Amino acid sequence: MKTVVITGGTRGIGEACVRLFSENNYKVFFIYRKEHEKARTLEKQTGATGFCADIQSNEECDRVISAITNKCNGIDVLINNAGIAEQKLFVDIMPDEWQRMIDTDLNGVYNITQPVLKNMLSKNDGVIINISSIWGQCGAACEVHYSTAKAGVIGFTKALAKEMGLSGIRVNCVAPGMIDTEMNNQLSNEDKNEICAQIPLGRMGKAAECAELILFLASNEASYITGQTIGINGGWKM
Ligand code: NDP
Repeated sequence: MKTVVITGGTRGIGEACVRLFSENNYKVFFIYRKEHEKARTLEKQTGATGFCADIQSNEECDRVISAITNKCNGIDVLINNAGIAEQKLFVDIMPDEWQRMIDTDLNGVYNITQPVLKNMLSKNDGVIINISSIWGQCGAACEVHYSTAKAGVIGFTKALAKEMGLSGIRVNCVAPGMIDTEMNNQLSNEDKNEICAQIPLGRMGKAAECAELILFLASNEASYITGQTIGINGGWKM
């Protein structure tokens, strides 16, 4: 049985991954920050195990990955999914808001990946999938800090894929467009309709559709894919 670690597992794309990987016979460990009750419910429903940690903290990430490796033979797949988004004019972004975005969406990927990678290197095998965004590829007005962090995740993916190729570790990135999760709750229905009108498939994506792509990238069927950023955006960006 393969082991997967999923960050931000209690809702949205992360929750869809917890459910899909559990259904596909993975031993699933997920990391969450605040939603204790949701985590316990998800554990009961799926058989997965949740650990509470803030990915902004290097120490907490080391502690949680050490706790996970004590409970399994090794980590086969890491999904760096946890993230935050915020819409603000660039001139209004305060230093602490900029720092929180970079600490979560970019440094959080470093904080979790390093201890997991040490485990993967000990067996020369593993798959890492980082969740970036269409805005990391194209840039979004009013989301300069988010776009910066997500572009950083794409650079991180390419560089690490080059460094890890001969160690048997694949590193890829998934770049979702607009996915129907709580992250987009701040948008009005009017805003959502306007965006959907620009998307060739005419609708938002589903978290479950992202999870299917991530499951494929984790599988042996994707054994020759590394260093790539795969869009899942209904044709919004081609
Ligand atoms: P949600 O807001 O629905 O879920 C985000 C998850 O990340 C939550 O479980 C949240 O838990 C967790 N999280 C956030 N900050 C931290 C932290 N510091 N430490 C630990 N966990 C944390 O988001 P989505 O499912 O929509 O997004 C998942 C990923 O996909 C994100 O990286 C996002 O940027 C990316 N994405 C999403 C798109 C979309 O349209 N939805 C589009 C493009 C990319 P908690 O609330 O407890 O902190």
